[in-house]
This record gives sequence, C-alpha cells and structure tokens, in this order.
Amino acid sequence: THFGYKTVESNQKESLVADVFHSVAAKYDIMNDFMSFGIHRLWKRQTIACSGVRKGHRVLDLAGGTGDLTAKFSQLVGDTGQVILGDINDSMLKVGRDKLRDLGLVNNIEYVQMNAQALPFPDNSIDVITIAFGLRNVTDKDEAIRSMYRVLKPGGRLLILEFSKTDNEALSKLYDFYSFNILPTMGKLVANDSESYRYLAESIRMHPDQETLKGMMETAGFEQASYQNFTGGIVALHRGFKY
Ligand code: SAM
Repeated sequence: THFGYKTVESNQKESLVADVFHSVAAKYDIMNDFMSFGIHRLWKRQTIACSGVRKGHRVLDLAGGTGDLTAKFSQLVGDTGQVILGDINDSMLKVGRDKLRDLGLVNNIEYVQMNAQALPFPDNSIDVITIAFGLRNVTDKDEAIRSMYRVLKPGGRLLILEFSKTDNEALSKLYDFYSFNILPTMGKLVANDSESYRYLAESIRMHPDQETLKGMMETAGFEQASYQNFTGGIVALHRGFKY
C-alpha cells in the first residue's frame, strides 16, 4: 500500500540520519566552522537576537546537537529559567553535554533525547522553541511543526534556522558546486566521512524553500509567520507566534 511504502521510506531516512550524526558527532563543531568559514556563528547570533528569550523563560533548543544555542540561552534565562537541549541522537547529546559542562554551564540545562515529531511535553508549556539546522533531517516536518505548536505557550514563538534557497543564479551555481564537490571532499579529509557530507548536501537541496516553509508554519497554526534571508538566502530564519 501507499502507507506501507511511506513507512519503509521513513524508517530508511531515520536510520540514515542516525548514522550520519553518530558518525560526525565528535568532529561536528570543527567541521561546522570549517565548512561555513565560521559564518554559522553569525547566523546563530542573529537567531538569538530574534528569539525574545529572557530571564525565567523555559526554552527548548530542539535538534540542539552540540548546544551552541543552548549555551547562550542558559545565560539569558538565568537561575529562574530552564533550557532543554533536545536531540534524537545520543552521540550528539553527549558531545553537547560534555562541551557545556566544560564551559561551566550546569545549573539550568537539561539534556533530553527526543524526536521532534512527538515532543515529550504537555501542551502550552514552553516559551520559545528554536530548531537550528535540524528540521531538514526530520522525516515528517509537518508533524514536527504541529508538535512544536502544541507545546508552545500562548504568546510563545518558534524560530527555524535552516538552509534555504538563494534566488541569485551565480551564487546558486557556486553553492551547488561547493555542496556536491568541495563539501564531501572536505568531509573525507577532515572527518574521513564523505558519505555523511554528501547526505548533508542532498538534504539541503530537498528542503522546502522560504515561502513553502512559511506556509507550513501557517498551516500548523502559527501567526505572523515571517522570515529573513542570510547570506543571499543560503540560510533563512523563520519565525512564528502562537496566540
Ligand atoms: N542545532 C545544532 C547546530 O545548529 O549546530 C545541531 C544541528 S545538526 C546539523 C542536526 C541535529 O538534528 C543533529 O544533532 C541530529 O541528531 C538532530 N535530529 C535529526 N533528526 C531529529 C529528530 N527527528 N528529532 C530531534 N532531533 C533530530
């Protein structure tokens, strides 16, 4: 049946994603800096600036991986707040936890293994959710966005930072060449893993463009959905509110 077909496809994607992130976990931070020339730090800084996170908030850094956003949120929410670093992959969670503990961030962070498609929280219980470079790895993105909407408090907001589509033809060609040729080669050299970085390039190409993702947020119930492009649209930050 069609349903059966979809299930097989989903399971395949989930185990492929699991393999990729088990494989890259230890080298993830180095590769991130290397592959983006450090620019991912600027994209993340901008995400934090748009997050509205403040003292006392309960924040979910979903698909949080090695915890770059969590580290900053931990400072912003203070002792009365809480940050949950949620990720499906225990290797990534472990690398993240070790890193944040080394930074002395211990008081207000929880590490929880979870699938974005079925968030383990009650309705209306989280102030802000961020998902940075995570959504494209999720099998059923609509289900994940609905789940995020459900657990957000009224007045809460969702931020999605993700690779997107550039409408500049020259930049697009350059970027394709970079993704499909240079990136896997760098993955091979630095992490001895070209396949994982080939997956990365393919998942970026398949990801919905800016307007499509905005529509998906609206369908899930988000209001005032909007986005801003970074680096010519190579990356976009989407934001939406639950009222
Ligand atoms: N947010 C971090 C950052 O920006 O550096 C990590 C991003 S990393 C590219 C993607 C993360 O998504 C991985 O840690 C992976 O395990 C996680 N992930 C993939 N599928 C997921 C799912 N269904 N639910 C939760 N996390 C998932």
